[in-house]
Parts: sequence; C-alpha cells; structure tokens
Amino acid sequence: MSDDNAKEIGYCVKCKAKSGMDEAERVTMKNGRPAMKGKCETCSTGMYKILPKDAA
Ligand SMILES: [Zn+2]
Repeated sequence: MSDDNAKEIGYCVKCKAKSGMDEAERVTMKNGRPAMKGKCETCSTGMYKILPKDAA
C-alpha cells in the first residue's frame, strides 16, 4: 500500500451517504475481519468500513 493520499470512503450513518474518512486507520474487528476506522469528513462521526477478507 503506497497510496497514502487516497482517502478511504466509508458510509456515514449520520449523513446517510458515502463520505471520505478522516484519520482512517486499519483495524481488526473482534471477529477477525479487517476494517478501516475513521471519522466522517463532513460531520466527524466515527465510521467503519468493512474490508473484504482477502484484503487482509
Ligand atoms: Zn457524516
């Protein structure tokens, strides 16, 4: 992964729309699946984006 400038896009439940993710970081959820965790760039609500299993 070298494309650090590309913003992660996630779904914000508050905006009810796809939105760019600020402070995105890769996390692993309890069930072992990879996800991106960040904040909605519009409203700063915490948001997650579930990554496909094969992206781990
Ligand atoms: Zn939002």
